[in-house]
Amino acid sequence: MTPVKLGVSYYGNRIPWRVKDDLQAIRDAGCTYVVHTFSEEDFEFYQPAMEQIVEETHRLGLEAWLDPWGIGQVFGGETYSSLVMKQLHLRQMSSRGDLLPTICPNHPGFRDYLLTWIEAAARFKADVLFWDEPHFQIYPEPEGSEEAKLWACCCGECRARFEKRFGHSMPERMTSEVRAFKEESLLDFIRFLCDSTRAKGMQAALCLLPFVNSSTVNDWTQAAAIPSVDIIGTDPYWKPHQPAVEKHVGRFSRRIADLAKQHGKEGQIWILNFNIPKGEEDKIRVAIEAAYGEGIRNFSAWSYFGAAYICLRAEDPAAVWKTLISCYQRLRTG
Ligand SMILES: [Zn+2]
Repeated sequence: MTPVKLGVSYYGNRIPWRVKDDLQAIRDAGCTYVVHTFSEEDFEFYQPAMEQIVEETHRLGLEAWLDPWGIGQVFGGETYSSLVMKQLHLRQMSSRGDLLPTICPNHPGFRDYLLTWIEAAARFKADVLFWDEPHFQIYPEPEGSEEAKLWACCCGECRARFEKRFGHSMPERMTSEVRAFKEESLLDFIRFLCDSTRAKGMQAALCLLPFVNSSTVNDWTQAAAIPSVDIIGTDPYWKPHQPAVEKHVGRFSRRIADLAKQHGKEGQIWILNFNIPKGEEDKIRVAIEAAYGEGIRNFSAWSYFGAAYICLRAEDPAAVWKTLISCYQRLRTG
């Protein structure tokens, strides 16, 4: 029987001797790894604490993963970016010419920044770097509105790359070439991140956003084919009161399990542990069983203790955590 890998994300506390108690609780819950957020703020101000937190994670026999949480707003994360304020030249530009509060994944200056972040993670002896939801600026406005016609990125770097690739200047309107360019750019970015991770002796995990948009990776096969991607996954979170969670999570789990098998990778599914209404905790079990049924053996939950300490908190975080623990214990004992 393939052993299961069980994780949970952890953030919000940077006092190592206090984090210790939470890590102990995470290990007691049956987890085999912890995904620590390592944000711009942590990178700038909390490196000694992060190093001790990774050390403590290892001391308890857990794998330590680090997540570039919200860095440049290019990765997922409910946190601010200081890069968008301090490195103005790295920002994305919209098709209307607005400078955006998001960094451009094509900019070499951003890639240099990420290399220093990767080096720090390697110094801390992290095991896995978790490249979470890489994307260009996403416009959430309703389809058909003026805002919905906007797209990014049209910065100088992207314009130069586009012209080199297609032999003409970048259009203002979204075209199939622009779509292809954005997709290729994200795949190139992922390749850069995962190659750099491997070069520093760590494993690379990639989490793809589970919806189709010109600002996300849509061709998952190409992403799975990148040799330095060790773990490929997605986070099919469900909404409060959403019916058919089994079908929703099962569909994405099948897609990930198939890709993982075809490309010799490990498939990972993220389980919603935030924003859960009281009384809907059992959907966690439904989701885990659906993913397990599709062949997933690496699960992680966002986040520790029902995300009790952030705006996304579950209505009854203790019940969410208790449910996750019972699911994890069942997975461990088969
Ligand atoms: Zn750009």
